[in-house]
Amino acid sequence: RGHSGFFAGQSLFQRPPRQSPIVPEVGAHQRSRRLGHLDLVNAPQIRIMRLPGPTERVYVTFESLGLDRPILDALALQGYATPTPIQAQAIPEILKGRDVVGIAQTGTGKTAAFTLPLLHRLMSNRIPARPNSVRVLVLSPTRELASQIEKAVRSYGAKLPLKSATVMGGVSMRPQRQKLAQGVDILVATPGRLLDLIEQKALDLKRVETLVLDEADQMLDIGFLPAIRKVIAMVPKERQMLLFSATMPKEIRNLTRQHLKDPAEISVTPVATTADRIEQSVMHVQQPSKMFVTSKMLKQRMSEQTIVFTRTKRGADKVAKRLIADGINAAAIHGNKSQNQREKALAAFRNGSLPVLIATDIAARGIDVPGVNLIVNFDLPEVAEVYVHRIGRTARAGAAGQAIALCAPEERKLLRAVERLIQREIPVIAAPEGVAAVDMSVEPVSERKAGRPNKPHRQQRSRPNSARRPAARSRGRSGQRQAATG
Ligand code: AMP
Repeated sequence: RGHSGFFAGQSLFQRPPRQSPIVPEVGAHQRSRRLGHLDLVNAPQIRIMRLPGPTERVYVTFESLGLDRPILDALALQGYATPTPIQAQAIPEILKGRDVVGIAQTGTGKTAAFTLPLLHRLMSNRIPARPNSVRVLVLSPTRELASQIEKAVRSYGAKLPLKSATVMGGVSMRPQRQKLAQGVDILVATPGRLLDLIEQKALDLKRVETLVLDEADQMLDIGFLPAIRKVIAMVPKERQMLLFSATMPKEIRNLTRQHLKDPAEISVTPVATTADRIEQSVMHVQQPSKMFVTSKMLKQRMSEQTIVFTRTKRGADKVAKRLIADGINAAAIHGNKSQNQREKALAAFRNGSLPVLIATDIAARGIDVPGVNLIVNFDLPEVAEVYVHRIGRTARAGAAGQAIALCAPEERKLLRAVERLIQREIPVIAAPEGVAAVDMSVEPVSERKAGRPNKPHRQQRSRPNSARRPAARSRGRSGQRQAATG
C-alpha cells in the first residue's frame, strides 16, 4: 500500500521467465481464490510478481514492447506515458500470438491491452479485409461497451489503414450490413446482433484470426453463454483467443479450459478500487427517505459529476423523475431506454452538460467517464462484487472520488457482505435533518428477504429486444440475477 497515482508502480515489475505462469504474490489461502473472484485482498496495490528462480527488474515502456511506430504515435497523442500493468503483461503475449486470460476489470487499461497488439499483428500481416468477413472479432456484453471499444480501436489505430466497425442491437441493421459487405479488419459486436447478421449471410467468421471476449462474466450474467459458444464454433480452430473477465465464475473457467490453448494468465488488481482512492461512506436511512436524501445531497453538490446506481430500471426512472422535479438536471440509462436515448444521455454526461446519471448496473458497467467524482448507491447491490464495480466508476485516472451508500434497515445484510468483501468497515455518516431516524440496535425482520432476486420476468417482457436477448441465467447464488435487470 501507500502508492499514489492511478498507475503507480506500473513500470517496475518483475518479468517472469518465458513460459512460466505468472504467480501473484498472495498467501496460500488466498491463492485458491485468485481466479475465482475479483481479488480484493490486496487491493489496491499493484502486485509484484513472485517468481521461481532469478528475476530481473525491468522498466517497461510502450517502445520496449515492440509496438509499431504509428501505434506509438497514437499513444503519445492520447497522452499515455507508460503501459499499465495489464498492458505491460498482456501485450508481449498477444504479440507472440498466444491465447490470454486476463482477470481485470474496466479501468485497468485492458482495452488497450488487447487492442494495441492486435493492431500491430494486423499490420504485420497486411491482407486486405475481404467482403463479409473480419480478421479480429471482439465480443462485448453491452452496446455501450461495444461503442467504447470501437472508439478506442479507432483512436489507437488512427494512423493505420485499418477498417473497424461496430454491430449491435437497438439500431438499424442496414448500415451495419453495408459496412460488413466492404470487409472489416476489427469488428466489435454484441452477440445477439452478430448472430442475426451471420444468419442473414452478411458475415461469416471463417477468416477470424483473433477472437476477443470482453467482460466474459457479464456476458454470462446476461445469458449470452450459448451465443458465445455458437460464435466459438464458427471461428477457425487455429485462431488466437483472448478472454477478459473481472471475476472467474465456474462457467467462464470451463469455457477457458475448453477453448483456449495454453493461455497466459494475467491478473491485475484494480488500482482505483475501494481502499485508498475512494472516500466511502454509508448513511442509514429508511427506504422511503432515500429519495429526499438523494435529492438534498445532489442539490448541495450540483457541480459534481454523479452516478446514482439503482437496482432496477423502474427505480432508476423514479429517481430520475424525482430529481428532475426538484430542479436537478438528471437522466436515467437502462435497458428499456432506446439506444438513441442512452447514447444521448451518456454523451451529455461525458461532456459535462448532464451532471447526474442514474443507472442500473448493466447499463453502467464498462462505461468510462473520467470526471465522475461521486457515486451514490441508492440501493445496495445484492452481489457484493457489484459494489466494487459501481464505485470503480469514480476516482478514474488518478482523480479523487467519493462513494455514498444509502442503506435501509433491510439492506444491512448486503452492507455487511460488501464490508466483508472489501475487508473494511465503511464509515457511517449522519442523515440530514428532518429524516426519520433508524434504530440501529434493532435488526430488521425483512419481509423481502435480503438477497432475494428481483423478478426478472417483468423486466424481460419490457426489454425492447427481448427476442434476441436471452433470459438471465439463474446461478443459484441469490441476487446474481439482478445484473440482468439493466
Ligand atoms: P479501460 O480499462 O480499457 O476501460 O481503460 C481505462 C482508462 O484508462 C481509459 O480512459 C483509457 O483511456 C485509460 N488508459 C488506458 N491505458 C492507459 C495508459 N497506458 N496510460 C494512461 N491512461 C490509460
